[in-house]
Amino acid sequence: MQLIREILGKQKSLERPVLSFEFFPPKTVEGEKTLLERQIPELLSAKPDFCSVTYGAGGGTREKTLALVKFIQQKFKLTTLAHLTCVNHTQAEVAALLDQFYFTGCRNILALRGDPPGGGSFQPTPGGFSYASELVAFIRAKGDFSIGVAGFPEGHVANKHGKLADWKHLQEKTAAGADFILTQLFFDNSDFFQFRDHLQNTLKVNVPIVPGIISIQSASQIVRFTQLCGARIPAALQKKLDSLAHDDEAALAFGIEYATLQCQELLKQGVPGLHFYTLNKAHSTLAVLKNLGLAKPT
Ligand SMILES: Cc1cc2nc3c(=O)[nH]c(=O)nc-3n(C[C@H](O)[C@H](O)[C@H](O)COP(=O)(O)OP(=O)(O)OC[C@H]3O[C@@H](n4cnc5c(N)ncnc54)[C@H](O)[C@@H]3O)c2cc1C
Repeated sequence: MQLIREILGKQKSLERPVLSFEFFPPKTVEGEKTLLERQIPELLSAKPDFCSVTYGAGGGTREKTLALVKFIQQKFKLTTLAHLTCVNHTQAEVAALLDQFYFTGCRNILALRGDPPGGGSFQPTPGGFSYASELVAFIRAKGDFSIGVAGFPEGHVANKHGKLADWKHLQEKTAAGADFILTQLFFDNSDFFQFRDHLQNTLKVNVPIVPGIISIQSASQIVRFTQLCGARIPAALQKKLDSLAHDDEAALAFGIEYATLQCQELLKQGVPGLHFYTLNKAHSTLAVLKNLGLAKPT
């Protein structure tokens, strides 16, 4: 399996952006069957460069991350990025987990602090880590991994000092050894451009910054989702979503159109890749990629 820093490093000489898809470990056997037998095989038609698998997000089971990473690599021969958080882990436990990922052939880790499963403020585990930057430094010292970190174009929701303070902490993660940044989803590209320009021009961060994209599936779902992750829905978008509140099919089609326009502008502005929050579904992401000419039309 390839190192993601190498995949991103080669991007400039290629004609297309690096494409990646995020999956979460399904909670049910049915969900797992659909993901592995239908959704991932369909998404593979777009020839992604790598996929990522979340870790304990929304209370999901952690062992499942390792199992899903292993399965995707073995069955689909697709490079995989394993998310890893500091929640409820000592350093010794993280070291053991890193060994397990390495042993399965996964040498790409998205180093995250994580959030407590039941909500509330994050409390470091005794003998663990307080911030993702500490986890990055730990992984860097442990072995030859390619390390990604999370970036927040609107600033991290819990940082009371504002987005510039949060972006400074993001710079610390790159100084600690991160190779690339994947961003939280956002709906206003100007937030992303301001974030990217500040990191590159003011903070002199020179690792690839890959925007995270979601194609809205339904009005109610995206409101729930953004409440959880702290992303802002601009007023005009909210108004449109309100008008589609009772028509999920129309909301899905609108979501594809909105994400397509977002991606077109981001690509014009030279982003190195696109990271899609697929929600374990192929349809919308594939439709966006087809609109962009990055996947074969059916
Ligand atoms: C692409 C992506 C993937 C994700 N995947 C998952 C997942 O799989 N599982 C999951 O549980 N969650 C996931 N998350 C959510 C993430 O864990 C939360 O947003 C979490 O609250 C912050 O994690 P972080 O790694 O950015 O933390 P950090 O970088 O540690 O930042 C956390 C907060 O602390 C502040 N901070 C950082 N360093 C310092 C310092 N030295 N002093 C004071 N303040 C500081 C930051 O500004 C921020 O407010 C993901 C997020 C993104 C964008």
